[in-house]
Amino acid sequence: MKGPNAEQLAFDSRHIWHPYSSMINPPSMFPVESASGVRIKLSDGRELIDGMASWWSAVHGYNHPRLNTAAKEQIDRMAHVMFGGLTHTPAIELSRKLVAMTPAPLQRVFIADSGSVSVEVALKMAIQYWQARGKPGKQRMLSIRNGYHGDTLGAMSVCDPVNGMHELFSGVLSQQLFAPRPETPFDGVFDDRDIAELERLLSTHRHELAALILEPVVQGAGGMRFYSPEWLRRARALCDQYEVLLIADEVATGFGRSGELFACQHAGISPDILCVGKALTGGYMTLAATLATADIADTISSGGAGCFMHGPTFMANPLACAVALESLTLLEEMDWRSQVIRLEAGLKQGLEPARSLPSVADVRVLGAIGVIERHQPVDLAEVQPLFVERGVWVRPFGKLIYVMPSYVMSDEDLATLTGAMVDVIKALD
Ligand code: PMP
Repeated sequence: MKGPNAEQLAFDSRHIWHPYSSMINPPSMFPVESASGVRIKLSDGRELIDGMASWWSAVHGYNHPRLNTAAKEQIDRMAHVMFGGLTHTPAIELSRKLVAMTPAPLQRVFIADSGSVSVEVALKMAIQYWQARGKPGKQRMLSIRNGYHGDTLGAMSVCDPVNGMHELFSGVLSQQLFAPRPETPFDGVFDDRDIAELERLLSTHRHELAALILEPVVQGAGGMRFYSPEWLRRARALCDQYEVLLIADEVATGFGRSGELFACQHAGISPDILCVGKALTGGYMTLAATLATADIADTISSGGAGCFMHGPTFMANPLACAVALESLTLLEEMDWRSQVIRLEAGLKQGLEPARSLPSVADVRVLGAIGVIERHQPVDLAEVQPLFVERGVWVRPFGKLIYVMPSYVMSDEDLATLTGAMVDVIKALD
């Protein structure tokens, strides 16, 4: 379909909810005609270099011929079929690849339909696991301040209640526990005191805790912070010591983004349960997965219910699985690590000039993630057009101006992108 005309845009602002938006005062929209490679083409003909990869997901760029072919071939065979009592090659081969790519202990795959649902599934797995182990009192979750795990009610309950996104619902959410966020930065020298409160909570509440859920090494929507892999290593050891499962939410970080295929691998650890999504289909369509150890799967299966209690209608949608399989194959073939290292160098160099600007509190880069943190939040309505005028698509959040480009972005486009970020901050100053 072509880009929207004036009547369609009027309908949009009157009738369609966009993410986190008001229907009385709808946000202004930039109508899109198409997207290809790292460029988003607006309806007025302007082309924007995309810094967001559609929120971490379009790692191969848009309109990729191999992903297009995978989708077309699969749609002519079977777009969807129920997964109850039926199975198919796209789901089997995708799961085989996920088991091979993720840390070795993760052997069982539940194919979910979005990142938030993969988190719900992980939480339910942890609860069912302890029930099956004869410890039904272990139902609570421990989470980390500044963490973010999605917008459904269970996922919201393990999001930091003070990060502002979910506090309206605090009365209806399960009451979970929260440990302080890790303070030791990615390259910092770890100090035992940084994890003392986590240990205290694990030891005091071990009888009621099912799992610790965290975003390994990179805290995304809750602040775009990169913390010490040593902290994560210690957290893994503490979970073992106090018999609490470890759930790693790699919905954002999975598939190379942080410089390792999975951010857990910076610490050389494996979680008991792993959530992946976003980049799984190269950003083509919604699909996620929750992987678990054989012990967790077998224990749940031998429990009272005899099965895991989840089964969405669009589970393992063949179209999404076929595209995801091709996306992961592409990732392996492209030498993603060299590309991410290249982008990391370009982001460091390009964002460095922001460090000396008066409004800038911090500049940080890890893998293909670049962040400028300001002292004050930006006004999105004011700042978004400034980026578009400079030919880039960047969507700031609060004090954070950040990018996570596609792995195929050229050095030249990356320099334009980072240059525009620095330039916009100068204009705001
Ligand atoms: N976990 C993390 C770490 C995320 O960043 C997100 C999405 N921003 C989610 C879960 C939820 O994923 P989705 O938006 O696909 O439901």
